[in-house]
Parts: sequence; structure tokens; C-alpha cells
Amino acid sequence: MPKIECKRCGTCCVKGGPVLHVDDLPLLDKKIIQARQLVVIRQGEPAYQPASDSVEPAACEMLKVQGVAGSWQCLFFEAATKSCTIHVNRPLECRLLQCQDPAPLLAVSGRDCLNRRDIMAQDDPAIPFIEAFTQCSWHTVHSLLEELDATTLLEIEKIIRTDLFLREEAVHSLKLSLAQELFYFGRPMFQAFCHAGVELSFERGMPRLHLR
Ligand code: SF4
Repeated sequence: MPKIECKRCGTCCVKGGPVLHVDDLPLLDKKIIQARQLVVIRQGEPAYQPASDSVEPAACEMLKVQGVAGSWQCLFFEAATKSCTIHVNRPLECRLLQCQDPAPLLAVSGRDCLNRRDIMAQDDPAIPFIEAFTQCSWHTVHSLLEELDATTLLEIEKIIRTDLFLREEAVHSLKLSLAQELFYFGRPMFQAFCHAGVELSFERGMPRLHLR
């Protein structure tokens, strides 16, 4: 089969950085990629899946390269030259991605993904906070959405608010930068929340959910 050359259009890098796999551990060991450059996608979190070009709940916890300036554009992408600043050491998914043939990427998608504990020290002070976040489960949110009514909506709202409360507590106690917060806790749930039947607004800085 002829080798498919990358046209270097940059589209895949702009849509989002790669999810890291066990195969990418040496990049972390050599500090080519660091924890503060990653964002955790929690299990069940709605996330863009480049392989299928759609937003789907994450099958497992994943670590993804952070985006720049509030976008998903990979922070290793240099827009002016449409090039990758770690090209020689780019992660597995970037080496496998071919616009014309998603099969190689699909073959590894959701398999052998690195998670936070794989790269955190055993005595990392954020561990108790991460454990507290288990009460903010995307799995529970998805279950409640299946029986959406005023009562379940309030329960979802409570989970989303607890997620905000816990991260504020952790950021304050551990004095975390935004990049560190994204690694330890990912995006606030309200940012990732999407459902056609629910509208999101804010009241005194707190998210409110309304049935459409
Ligand atoms: S690591 Fe490099 S190749 Fe991979 S998405 Fe980022 S800029 Fe693109």
C-alpha cells in the first residue's frame, strides 16, 4: 500500500491535541510533555472524538494535550508555520492519524489510555481531592438525563454545582494554576455539559439548568 503523506494542513491539530497512551510514557519521563500541559477527560465526559469526528461520552479516563487560549487547538501546534513543535517526538495518535484513513487511529482509540494516577506521585496532595470528585460522576448525569424531568434536572444541577465547589476548594488549598487544575480535575462539568433538552444559565455565578 502506498504511504499516505501528511499534507500539513493543520486541521487535526486545530481540532484538538492527542489523547496519550501507555506508548507515550517515555515522552512524559523525558519531560517532552508535562502534566501541566494535559487536561483530564473524565470517564463519561462528553468529548470530541477525532476518529469519529463527533462528541461522545469518553469510554474511560483519558489525558489529552491541552488547547491554547480557551480553544482545543493543540498547544504544540505552531499556527504560523502549520507545524508541530514536538514533531520528532509526537505522541502515538499523531503518528497514526491519517486524514484519508481513520482505521489506524480507530484501532488504538480508547485502548491503553494513560490516566492521572499513571503519572502522579503516590503522595500527590491532590489525590484526596480527586477522590472527592467521584461524587460528580458523568455516569450518574447520563443516567439522570435518560429520565429527564424537573426532579432529575435538579439532581444534575446539584452535581454540576458540587463539581464547581470542590474545584474551588482544591484550587484554593493547593494554590493551583489553571493548567494544573485542568490536569487534576479537567473542565468544569457545566462547560462540557450538552443536552438538546436542557438550557444552561448562571445565577450569582452558579450554573442553573432549565428544561427547554
Ligand atoms: S502533538 Fe503535534 S502533531 Fe499532535 S496534534 Fe499537537 S501539534 Fe499536531
